Amino acid sequence: MSDCLFCRIISGEIPSAKVYEDALTYAFRDINPMMPVHVLVVPKQHLASVAAADEATDEVLAGCLRTCAKVAAQEGLTGGFRVVSNCGDDACQSVQHLHFHVLGGGKMTDRMG
Ligand code: AMP
Ligand code: ZN
Repeated sequence: MSDCLFCRIISGEIPSAKVYEDALTYAFRDINPMMPVHVLVVPKQHLASVAAADEATDEVLAGCLRTCAKVAAQEGLTGGFRVVSNCGDDACQSVQHLHFHVLGGGKMTDRMG
């Protein structure tokens, strides 16, 4: 989708700090990091959010989680990490292309909301 920010990042039209890439997924550093490590993992296929999971194959969906794990290992997050996917207005989703935040590099609070 030419008007989607993350599709344009995946295609290279908009620059990003790439962390990892494979056939199905792309990972890059968040431009406004909330933790010392803050990476976004996205499927190369455009999907609006987790709510659109039925539009993707299991391979794509599982590939996103595998990439989260690879990124965490690559970034040395041995103490733990958090994976978050905001979905819709109540969760403050601001980019309408499915993405998983991989956060780590320090102790986080136990507040999720
Ligand atoms: P969300 O609010 O869950 O939709 O997350 C969108 C994330 O995209 C935010 O954490 C933004 O900081 C991040 N973001 C927006 N534009 C860019 C960009 N050009 N490169 C990297 N991250 C971005
Ligand atoms: Zn997109």
